[in-house]
Amino acid sequence: MTATVVHKFGGTSLADAACIRRVAEIIAARSESRRVVVVSAMAGVTNALVRAVELAGARDADGYGRLLADLERKHRDAFADLLPPNVARELGEALDKDLAEIRDVLHATTLLRRHSRETLDLVTGYGEIWSARMLSAYLASRGCAAVWIDAREILTASWKDATPEIDWTSSRARLERWRAARANAPATFVVTGFIASTEDGVATTLGRNGSDFSASIFAALFDADEIHIWTDVDGVMSADPRLVPEALTLDEMSYDEAMELAYFGAKVIHPSTMAPAVERGLPIFIRNTFRPELPGTRIHAGPSSGFAVKGLATVESIALLNLEGTGMIGVPGTAQRLFGALRDEGISVVMISQGSSEHSICFAVPATTADRARAAVERAFFAEQHHGQIQRVEVTSGCGILAVVGDGMAGRPGIAAKFFSALGKARVNIRAIAQGSSERNISVVVDAPDMQRALRAAHSGLYLSSQTLSIGLVGAGSVGTEFLRQLDSQLSRLKQDFDVDLRVRAIATSKRMLLSDRPIDLGHWTRALETNGEPVDLERLAAHVHAEHLPHAALVDCTASDDVARQYDSWLARGIHVITPNKRANASDIDYYRRLRRSNRAVSAHYLYETTVGAALPIIQTLRDLVQTGDEISEIEGILSGTLSFLFNSFDGSRPFSALVEQARSLGYTEPDPRDDLSGMDVARKMTILAREIGLSLELRDVDLHSLVPEALQRGTVADFIEALPRHDGEMETLRRDALANDKVLRFVGRVTRGGEASVGLRAYPNSHPFARVHLTDNIVLFRTSRYSENPLVVQGPGAGREVTAAGVFADLLRLASYLGAVL
Ligand code: ADP
Ligand code: ASP
Ligand code: MG
Repeated sequence: MTATVVHKFGGTSLADAACIRRVAEIIAARSESRRVVVVSAMAGVTNALVRAVELAGARDADGYGRLLADLERKHRDAFADLLPPNVARELGEALDKDLAEIRDVLHATTLLRRHSRETLDLVTGYGEIWSARMLSAYLASRGCAAVWIDAREILTASWKDATPEIDWTSSRARLERWRAARANAPATFVVTGFIASTEDGVATTLGRNGSDFSASIFAALFDADEIHIWTDVDGVMSADPRLVPEALTLDEMSYDEAMELAYFGAKVIHPSTMAPAVERGLPIFIRNTFRPELPGTRIHAGPSSGFAVKGLATVESIALLNLEGTGMIGVPGTAQRLFGALRDEGISVVMISQGSSEHSICFAVPATTADRARAAVERAFFAEQHHGQIQRVEVTSGCGILAVVGDGMAGRPGIAAKFFSALGKARVNIRAIAQGSSERNISVVVDAPDMQRALRAAHSGLYLSSQTLSIGLVGAGSVGTEFLRQLDSQLSRLKQDFDVDLRVRAIATSKRMLLSDRPIDLGHWTRALETNGEPVDLERLAAHVHAEHLPHAALVDCTASDDVARQYDSWLARGIHVITPNKRANASDIDYYRRLRRSNRAVSAHYLYETTVGAALPIIQTLRDLVQTGDEISEIEGILSGTLSFLFNSFDGSRPFSALVEQARSLGYTEPDPRDDLSGMDVARKMTILAREIGLSLELRDVDLHSLVPEALQRGTVADFIEALPRHDGEMETLRRDALANDKVLRFVGRVTRGGEASVGLRAYPNSHPFARVHLTDNIVLFRTSRYSENPLVVQGPGAGREVTAAGVFADLLRLASYLGAVL
């Protein structure tokens, strides 16, 4: 059994009474023989105290008064919620005393008109005292004996070079004394994080977010075996999850990696935490208070597994200074003088970059220190500037640093290339670059407005498969729903075997849409759409799918809508790939059609529409292969309506034509209004698409269309139509008999010739013709070409139905993935 474990709970874990109950449960469930529980102030409390001090300095007594009243209420509410009344009262009294003291100090500050470092240190540390008192009292009230320690009575610290330094000898001795005075102390200690006192016994702090550091200091003092840092995320993640929704939780990392990440702004752990833990080789676990069943991230000395790149972090509000001049070339000691001057000013340098020509040195400092840094450098190099050996000290403010961290980057070629190419693709300008020779960190300085784009692009370049597609489905009707079902069943296989990562991030029906940052669970999207859906807005949907941080975006249109089809050109122009079984766009005016095909080339957005003709049958692709390889198409002829195919395949005289229409309708083979099929308009659209594919400038209206809907029945309701249709059976029967007399059968076909003649209508074919031998709802197309002149090329098979159409759309999606580099 582990002997001693230090647990640190951050402010987010102690946000309110409910959180504190959770924390107590975690502690009570632990089995180690001794626990040291280091606590932060409740979330937001330190910030409020800092603000109160600033307001006092600015003589705003009302302002800080309100803040203190809020703090009082927040704590009293929690006391009342958690503790028996008498204990709550006791804690309330102690709180009153502290607040009175704070008011005195702030009043004095108001008189002095400025606040001192000491005031800030004293006042900001109270939050930890209140939360430690509260947690230990709550633990005791639940039967878990606990004692709280005011760390100011134990830790001796002083500030040197803008970092807190622990006096270990003194701290150890004070803890010894504290413990000697409490021989029967229970097994649970609740310790205030963040605070300490100076040699002279004056209150001080370990700096913002210093509770992590407190945890590792107490781990050293108590000779602990492990440190658990409890927070509100599952562990250390590959990037700040608030900035990068795709960030992954890491299972383990080395101290060095954690240190670099923390230094570069990964707020989840403070860099100072590492030293005492490293010295003793203590593992540090970063864990989620709200999901204690998870193991979290283990930070330890050992070599770490998995990813070469562990994480990305950013530092905001940076200024870049550049010292340039011939006077520095070959002059020893320049860097020393430069950085010595900055050190004397107490300015910390975040990053340094010097080219080997020594013509310039460029370094990054926190923006707030930029003016002082420039002045210090100008002073240090006054003579050189005067004599012209140094031309200028240039300051660029409004920058940030993006760092990529990972032990595994050492000696592994290609990572920098991926990083920079991702930034390049995202159009991020890099102002400066630094890579330490440990190769554990590559840092770049970029303009602040580019920061988030840079971070997301780099994260996706380094972590995501380059075939990661952000997908939106418009039209979740019968084909759309089936497409999602098929996709769902293959997602993990495609990811595992081919590294194709298909992420459906938007789904829209005609009324509602669901947008999600994380991939939508395709097993339960209908429910999610109901609960989290919003009114459809195609513009927002497209913008959401076209997420800058994901390598590719595709929209799948499974509607039959003109309005949606009208959006394709704007989608393609933005670089969004479009996949569709919707014929509307390709059959609309030729100018629009041409625009779609052109924009496709200009921004390399692919436009795929195999399923607009013959569902999943390889018709468009076959035609395209013929054209691309230089074959000359003389004629395309085909049965391209599953409904009409069925009707004439079954029309053998045993039943009247109207009865077959009725049957097809009841089998679901027709549109709700069968006239939509019988009019031949759908076939005319398909012929227009095929004609354009071979380079003809055909409009839909140029197709010579012979509708099967009798003139008299073109208007009226569906019911009227069904009722009246039998009256026209005679005409149809005559046509059938005439054909039969010549050993022929009737077929409803579309035809287009190279000369641009296009027609759609009923024709008779000899029994030996391929069209006479089709079944059920089969489609069939004959391509007569110069290469296939004797015998046409034939494509035949089921050319309608939700399953095959959905599969065709899916196949187009995979074709897109392979255009984007997947090897399927
Ligand atoms: P606590 O109150 O527990 O100290 P903080 O808010 O200080 O919590 O730190 C935890 C937060 O750090 C997380 O909620 C997360 O948003 C942020 N964060 C930034 N970078 C990372 C990272 N690389 N991994 C995990 N969390 C990170
Ligand atoms: N409460 C302090 C802060 O907010 C210390 C900490 O939470 O780590 O900075
Ligand atoms: Mg923190």
